[in-house]
Amino acid sequence: MTEDTFSTETTYFADVILPVPIPRMFTYRVPRHFAADIKIGARVIVQFGRNRVVTALVGKIHTKPPEKYQAKYILELLDIDPLVTPSQLWLFEWIAEYYMCCIGEVMNVAVPSGLKVSSQSRMQLNPDFDHPELLEEKEIEFLEILKTHTSLTYDDAIKFVGATNINPMIKSLIGKHAIIMYEEVKEKYKPKIAKKLRLKRVYEGSEEVFNLIDSLTKSPKQQTIIMEYLKNIPVNELRERNNLGVDKSIFTQGETSDSALSTLIDKGILEQFEVIVSRFGDEVPEEPLKITLTDAQQAASDEIMQNFSERDIVLLHGITGSGKTEIYIDLIQKVLDGGSQVLYLLPEIALTTQIVVRLKRVFGDKMGVYHSKFSDNERVEVWRGIVEGRYQFVVGVRSAIFLPMDNLGLVIIDEEHETSYKQFDPAPRYHARDVGIMLGLKQGAKILLGSATPSIESYYQAQTGKYGLVTINKRYGEAQLPDITLVDLKAERKAKTMKNDFSSVLYNQIQQNLANKEQTIIFQNRRGYSPYLNCQECNWVSECQQCAVSLTYHMHSTELRCHYCGHKEEIPKACPVCGSGKLRTIGFGTEKLEEDLKAMFDTARVTRMDLDTTRTKNAYQNIISEFEQGGTDILVGTQMISKGLDFDQVSLVGIFDADRMIHFPDFRAAERAFQMLTQVSGRAGRRAKKGLVLIQTNDTQQALLQKVVVNDYIGYYTHEISERESYFYPPFTRVISITLKHEEQEKAEKAAHWLAEKLLEKLGKARVLGPEKSLIERIRNKFLFDIMIKLEKDKLNIKAAKVFLREMIDALHQTKEHKEVDVVVDVDAV
Ligand code: ADP
Ligand code: ZN
Ligand code: ZN
Repeated sequence: MTEDTFSTETTYFADVILPVPIPRMFTYRVPRHFAADIKIGARVIVQFGRNRVVTALVGKIHTKPPEKYQAKYILELLDIDPLVTPSQLWLFEWIAEYYMCCIGEVMNVAVPSGLKVSSQSRMQLNPDFDHPELLEEKEIEFLEILKTHTSLTYDDAIKFVGATNINPMIKSLIGKHAIIMYEEVKEKYKPKIAKKLRLKRVYEGSEEVFNLIDSLTKSPKQQTIIMEYLKNIPVNELRERNNLGVDKSIFTQGETSDSALSTLIDKGILEQFEVIVSRFGDEVPEEPLKITLTDAQQAASDEIMQNFSERDIVLLHGITGSGKTEIYIDLIQKVLDGGSQVLYLLPEIALTTQIVVRLKRVFGDKMGVYHSKFSDNERVEVWRGIVEGRYQFVVGVRSAIFLPMDNLGLVIIDEEHETSYKQFDPAPRYHARDVGIMLGLKQGAKILLGSATPSIESYYQAQTGKYGLVTINKRYGEAQLPDITLVDLKAERKAKTMKNDFSSVLYNQIQQNLANKEQTIIFQNRRGYSPYLNCQECNWVSECQQCAVSLTYHMHSTELRCHYCGHKEEIPKACPVCGSGKLRTIGFGTEKLEEDLKAMFDTARVTRMDLDTTRTKNAYQNIISEFEQGGTDILVGTQMISKGLDFDQVSLVGIFDADRMIHFPDFRAAERAFQMLTQVSGRAGRRAKKGLVLIQTNDTQQALLQKVVVNDYIGYYTHEISERESYFYPPFTRVISITLKHEEQEKAEKAAHWLAEKLLEKLGKARVLGPEKSLIERIRNKFLFDIMIKLEKDKLNIKAAKVFLREMIDALHQTKEHKEVDVVVDVDAV
């Protein structure tokens, strides 16, 4: 609160954002003792519901008590300086409204859980309890245990009485007033502490040090330690450096004796101390990288700047390998020099690797990195680094839009076409590109979108003059775009020249590539060994019990797995229906290609990169560095390998299953296929030697493939945009997808019809599609029905339409019949 408005006489209330999916903020009473200190954006602890204690954010401060309930007191104020800036609060509200979710859901993804306090229920004996006659034998035993522990958490208690007994017993003991439950609150963030050692003050100075060494002649081990210390910190010359000390670990690893070290500490010669250190290390980057733009890059950079003088948003359409990163670097430098902040968004995978290393060499420790594989503690450190002004520039994945930057001069959204910018589950189902644009505009920043295959939406904005458009059609250096060739699978099958799923053309090229010691990438956008296990006798197919999909055969883990619900089961030895042992796999995923490659080219080093091989924190990096250093000949992977990776020695890319991508039943299928094929192809020939891309297909005449072959983005765009216009799809409309879910098919279906009808009444037939069974009819035992609404951008008040939609969903939930049906709303579904 500001001093001039604050009065000690007044009772204040705060509306807080709770980290739960409820539509409104909740009002709490501000206790007098911190009324003067509480500010918007600060974290507070409040009780919500009967036993929950949660971290909430102050959204508003006022003097009006709530009308419908008695306001509870705020329990604790966590920040004197607000954690969340006004600009962030504005963004949370914008996201909640635009994506039709609750602000608490936004806060939940926005604030790293390391900044929330956790509360844990604990139990203790009730000191006033005096009816032991009420207790059962087991309960007496448990209370004895509790007595010796002062207090226990649920988990502790389970260890003593077992998980199945715990709840009834606790309930009974609470009912008898024998125990009390309470909430223990603690901060989750833990700073990283380094243990250090330094010489005691009295030994600082050259004479003192020499005397000390002399005095240790009889204890050579101790003397060695002191000499080692002096090597790191020459106290005799640089006295003040002693203060910094050295990591204790340098003495505790290797040959030094622990007992000698302890003696030195006990004797008061060395002293131990602790400091808080950064989790990102203090590694000094290799020599800073100076980048000289090529003429084409410089021209593009200038053109971008010029566009920015008239427009806020520019789309950079640069072919793969044109060096978009270098252009970004140039612009980032300019903006940082001007004193503003920069946010650079990248899709997940691109970020784990090469670009970060390159950027670090340019920007050093001014740059913060925000990655989804970071621990909570690491996230908190980036957050604090921004607030404390250490990071002027952050490169991060989609959730980096939630960081507390409030002086942005430039927002870069690289690979802007990437669908991974959209959060699918849980809410908020936001699109980080679109939110990034809002965020930038709000702060008066310029926004640069970059891609070799811009989304139809963004390119349309550029075509119609809303965004500036800058194009680079030349690869960096000598590199050229690869030759792309279609391989006719039908013809090869007829001629019986296929080897497993490999055409002879691809097979021969791989062989030649291996002989030339060049690298190959094989792309198949499906993981696992094969998508079906099938009985040759009765035609049984492995299916998930909970979802309407087949179970994928995973050879490495020898199990069948559902890619929708995660269900796993053992591979049956015989058909569960007819008992026949004649089981075979149908179709192929990355595991099978890997296996086939190893069998066909037995000396080749083959590595696979997909979700299954990259679950651990450093797995991507390891696979990618191994490949970069030439330790792998053939890399087999899913779409992961298409994302912004830059390899020197790849001269061949083989693409499987292009047809499946193109014919996927979705209005974006063509767009996705074009992007994916072009991006994967773009991994080839990024250095001097021209690369080759082989796309295996059953129909070499497909128009889309023809455009991929000649890298005709404009041709593909022109066709696609006219389709979108005739069928009222984005960018001409906004699409909101609504999914209704229930365990009983009939209930889900009826609710879907009810809702669709209500929507139809007001919005009309052309705007409401469905309901229809979802592409996967059942997931996790729930039946799914989809409604899609398409709202024209120019003719309709979309905000009002969303309010109407929300009202209708609420109305649905108020009917007795449909109230249990889940409704998921996805605005701008991708
Ligand atoms: P894009 O993102 O457009 O596909 P990159 O930015 O990854 O392309 O650049 C492709 C390769 O060319 C990278 O290895 C990059 O280091 C190199 N490169 C591009 N421009 C320059 C430059 N001006 N100076 C040095 N290397 C460059
Ligand atoms: Zn069978
Ligand atoms: Zn399943």
